[in-house]
Amino acid sequence: MEKRTFEKLGVSASLLGFGCMRFPMQGDGEIDEAAGEQMLTEAYEAGVNYFDTAYPYHNGKSEPFVGKVLNKFKRDSYYLATKLPVWFVKKEEDVRRIFEEQLQRLDKDYVDFYLLHALNAERLADLVDCKVIETCEQLKKEGKIKYLGFSFHDSYEAFEKIAKLYPWDFCQIQYNYMDTDFQAGDKGYALTEELDIPVVVMEPIRGGSLANHSKEILTKFRSQNPDATPSSYALRWVASHPNVKVVLSGMSSLAQMRDNLATFSDFKPLNEQEREIIDEVASILKSRVQNACTACGYCMPCPAKVNIPMNFKAWNDYHTYQSYGAIKFLWEVAIGEESKAKNCVECGKCEKSCPQGIAIRADLKRVQEDLTVTS
Ligand code: SF4
Ligand code: SF4
Repeated sequence: MEKRTFEKLGVSASLLGFGCMRFPMQGDGEIDEAAGEQMLTEAYEAGVNYFDTAYPYHNGKSEPFVGKVLNKFKRDSYYLATKLPVWFVKKEEDVRRIFEEQLQRLDKDYVDFYLLHALNAERLADLVDCKVIETCEQLKKEGKIKYLGFSFHDSYEAFEKIAKLYPWDFCQIQYNYMDTDFQAGDKGYALTEELDIPVVVMEPIRGGSLANHSKEILTKFRSQNPDATPSSYALRWVASHPNVKVVLSGMSSLAQMRDNLATFSDFKPLNEQEREIIDEVASILKSRVQNACTACGYCMPCPAKVNIPMNFKAWNDYHTYQSYGAIKFLWEVAIGEESKAKNCVECGKCEKSCPQGIAIRADLKRVQEDLTVTS
């Protein structure tokens, strides 16, 4: 198993990390514990030593399950990462109370990598008001947290602000060959190098979207190596960045996990030809995007409560990956009925503020038509 060193922490972690948010499930929606335990055990035995969970994963069941399985192994033989649900922090005392609850759930005395979960510009004020960092520093002094970082989903500008706020031990960002201009993106990655913040990457396969492709794209990938899967290309693209120390994959089947283990047991950075293939694939995927929405949000709020950027994201992703599965959660759950495109009353207010000049009203009609037919 390929290892990377977090130089400033003196930590050597497996380049493949186990993301514990997509375990196999039973029919009743609970974790299939037998299958999950087999995966965690096999990964550990193959050299994976970084396990990443969080308070809300699997409706709160991931932490206790992962903690229980990891109790089979020596505590200092792996790194356990979990995250503070900052959205539940309303006052200073909440930080310690939630953290202690997490230790109990995990059945552990300490957490190696502790992250402030899904930080964004909006949550920054609460972070300061509730003295979140100060409490975490105290927990570090007590030996209950080894390293403090944050995970992130927002614009590059917010990333820069947060990255410069504190001398973080590490950070976790969404990064893959399609998200080079999205969220932290390439600019954010470059900033981590400048600030010497080691990076853990999530969504390297973009929630599975980069694992399944059309025949045209598969042919390109196979031209180099008929046995290499699209996922292995996506993982190797991320892992070819030297400041990336761990690549998390939310593995949900043994087959997927074994493919990932094979990629990282004999890890090779991308060569020039493989980089070119990925560039070509990315440009094919990007050519399927329907409009130029950058999710800047200048068109919001909409008086009819339409979530314009989220509707466009679902629509663009649907066409890009040619898969309803890629947007099912976004369209059916995250965008509530009241925020869907169909609620637009065509007042035209939003179009006056769109820097991309998008014909928002016309495009929202197409969103609703395309995604209704599909769902
Ligand atoms: S045109 Fe439609 S989407 Fe735009 S602000 Fe008016 S109601 Fe909202
Ligand atoms: S203003 Fe335009 S680019 Fe920005 S979120 Fe709205 S539609 Fe997208």
